[in-house]
Amino acid sequence: MDLDLAVGAAQQHYADARPNSASWARRAAAVLPGGNTRSVLAFEPFPFRVERAEGKYLWDVDGHRYVDFLGNYTAGLLGHSPEPVEKAVRAVLDSGWSLGSVHRDEVHLAELLTDRFPSMEQVRFTNSGTEANLMALALALHTTGRSKVMVFQHGYHGGVLAFGEAANPVNVPHDWLVLPYNDQAAVVEAFRSHGAEIACVLVEPMQGSAGCIPGTPEFLSLLRNQCSSNGSMLIFDEVMTSRFSLGGAQEVLGIMPDLTTLGKYLAGGFSFGAFGGNSEIMGTFDPKRNAGSTTSLGHAGTFNNNVISMAAGVATLKEMVNSTTLARINNLGDLLRKELNETFQESGVDMCATGQGSLLNIHGTAGPVLSAADLAGSDDRLKELLFFALLDDGFYVARRGFVALSFEIEAADVAALLTATEGWATAHAGRS
Ligand code: PMP
Repeated sequence: MDLDLAVGAAQQHYADARPNSASWARRAAAVLPGGNTRSVLAFEPFPFRVERAEGKYLWDVDGHRYVDFLGNYTAGLLGHSPEPVEKAVRAVLDSGWSLGSVHRDEVHLAELLTDRFPSMEQVRFTNSGTEANLMALALALHTTGRSKVMVFQHGYHGGVLAFGEAANPVNVPHDWLVLPYNDQAAVVEAFRSHGAEIACVLVEPMQGSAGCIPGTPEFLSLLRNQCSSNGSMLIFDEVMTSRFSLGGAQEVLGIMPDLTTLGKYLAGGFSFGAFGGNSEIMGTFDPKRNAGSTTSLGHAGTFNNNVISMAAGVATLKEMVNSTTLARINNLGDLLRKELNETFQESGVDMCATGQGSLLNIHGTAGPVLSAADLAGSDDRLKELLFFALLDDGFYVARRGFVALSFEIEAADVAALLTATEGWATAHAGRS
């Protein structure tokens, strides 16, 4: 069977086993464009609809159970219904949640975050990683009085800050300089030509949505040095990578950014974003600075300090996320990536896995993948076939091949995923 026919058959098999999800997809399509309100969750023929989640499992409306290897695209680091977070949220429900006032947990959470990330002496909270990046950019432009923003091809900093193959019509209209990732010569040249105009560099230490492509230490250090010598600000988007160690990717790399943005798991699975830097720069948001010729910046948001996210974040950082829990899943991710690559190589299927620690992405090419440009010739059909085969075996990874381990995942789960992948790769050997 050729690959196109195999994909068609896999989609049919998937659909036949999920009549309830199919019916919900039709109902959804009447009121949500494409039946969807979060673009990344759409896939053909339709996504299975989840009824319940607990521990490491998801159950769909057709009664299938999946081991969740996606962990809500990294926001689900803790696994489902983690007890300390559940307890904290229940306490909030007992004491009120739409306060329109300041409260204690926003201070607790800010203290915990600034302890964890030395680059952040002060933070501001937002509702999402996207908002955190928007505010960090506004702060950098305001602080430097410059307008250009350096970002990288296939970088993703939010739905309105996405730099894929085609121009993104919903992006915010900053004066972007879009460079190839991991390309030191391009960075040197851009600073040589535009150094005095560059307000900031916004970069993911590992490109996540682009396919888990780590930045080389040399590339990221060069960004630090060029920003310092040109008076530009370095913004590390650690929305995904903050899980690489207690102090995030910046600690692993030994690089201190001027601003850091955070999101995802830090509020225990509730909506969250934060950005921070040193007190001098962050003090721009201090309303008392509105004196004489200096003006402070405003930063509004009804839900910026929403009590559920704040309380959940405190429980997450106090009781669940520590060096030991992070190291365990980062090691498990390193093992999974290594063994997946061995499996693909041994079976002769043109695929590979990239990433760092507990985050990885499977690609439809044998690699190596050092930047998104290396994915140009990859075969998406192989990834799609593996995706459906894994669902059949009860494992959920992202349709695009993304895997984000949660604290609920054990070595035995990783071994089971590897066995399922090996079985599939052996059956498909030679097809690529
Ligand atoms: N930055 C990065 C690196 C991300 O991966 C994401 C989300 N995938 C965002 C920012 C945006 O975060 P949010 O979806 O919370 O707006």
